[in-house]
Amino acid sequence: MSKAIVFKFGGASVKDADSIKNLFNILFKRLRNPMVLVVSAIGKTTNALEEILKSKYRNESYSLKCSILRTQHLTICESLFPNDHTIFQSLERLFDGMDDFLKTELTPGNYDEYYDQVIVYGELASSLILQAYIEYRQVSSIWLDAREVIKTNSEFRFAKVSWDLTQEKVNEKLLMILKDKLVVTQGFIGSDDHGRSTTLGREGSDFSAAILASCLDAESVTIWKDVDGVLNADPKKFKHTQKFEELDYHEAAELTYYGASVIHPKTIKPLANKNIPLYVKSFVKPETSGTKIHKVDQVNIVPCIVMKENQILVSFKVTDFTFINESHIHIVYSKIEFLKLKVNLLQVSGISISIVIDDDMFKLEELLESLKDQFQIKYNKNLYLITVKNPSEKIIKRMVRDKKVLLEQTTRNSFQVVYMTDFA
Ligand code: ASP
Ligand code: MG
Repeated sequence: MSKAIVFKFGGASVKDADSIKNLFNILFKRLRNPMVLVVSAIGKTTNALEEILKSKYRNESYSLKCSILRTQHLTICESLFPNDHTIFQSLERLFDGMDDFLKTELTPGNYDEYYDQVIVYGELASSLILQAYIEYRQVSSIWLDAREVIKTNSEFRFAKVSWDLTQEKVNEKLLMILKDKLVVTQGFIGSDDHGRSTTLGREGSDFSAAILASCLDAESVTIWKDVDGVLNADPKKFKHTQKFEELDYHEAAELTYYGASVIHPKTIKPLANKNIPLYVKSFVKPETSGTKIHKVDQVNIVPCIVMKENQILVSFKVTDFTFINESHIHIVYSKIEFLKLKVNLLQVSGISISIVIDDDMFKLEELLESLKDQFQIKYNKNLYLITVKNPSEKIIKRMVRDKKVLLEQTTRNSFQVVYMTDFA
């Protein structure tokens, strides 16, 4: 059997019936054997499911939200299938299952586990629709429950992949069916040793595609997006962006680390380890070249700008006239690790440690509470963090112009600034 190719389609590429038809056309022109299709939940479904969970958690009514979600999926199908198609029953059954599950008790103690059992319905629904549509258009395909192959630990919402077990399941369950059928499966979801649903972290479908590609030793992965490829800045926020024709794995990984949202940060590593190229292409302009991420020897020198919103700058000051030493840093970092926070910028001076973190519900309070006896702590919320890789003098000036800058840091090949006002 030749090597498989893996296509990943995100929520925006299946957001309505026309998008699904467009997806099919892209696929049809590129049909190959063997091929795996990884799909996210439709449009903003995952957010909608999170809203349902929030309402349930607060003991508010959530049934209307559930029926809206169900109707949205059924309405899309009305434009894709004849009235008597079995997809309608399949979806009704699926959403009945979700409604039933939601009748079980949710407590603060089981929130993460509960979340994963509910949130998977988004991907299950979209993949059912997509597979049924592909079949309806007479391409022989099969629906695979990703939870049968992507095996993880039980860290609900942020599950870690059990690679050996996943490899075993891929060999056992996926290889066979790939021989003569296109396989449609879900991104983002997996299951633990007890068969409970788990998820890999928000936007994790890219990572799912990479996991499967790695286990299949695939020829390539293509992520289909609503942008032209990987750009040197977000075109919605910056003018004069530039698209990369190719990028080295390291460069791409670094950009995702700083917050470039075009690819999920965990996607690159498994592909780089096996030298599997990753294409980022536009589903709006599928004939254009996109970006190829692979091993490139030439280093990129084009400046890249990544902006993160909703940042918090927290400063920890020693209070006893000593200076900051390793043990202070250790105390702060241990707490950060415990709270699963990610430090986006660190600056240490003689008497204080400053960190920039994402604004993650309740976590700031916990951090402040647990360290208030050791440090004098100050913080600012609603900040922006801009990271520029390969900065030029001109870009640095432009980034700080008209801003209330709270912190700046320059290294050999990066510049970072934290500031207050809206981006101008
Ligand atoms: N549907 C999930 C999310 O919105 C996973 C993904 O889209 O990659 O986070
Ligand atoms: Mg998505």
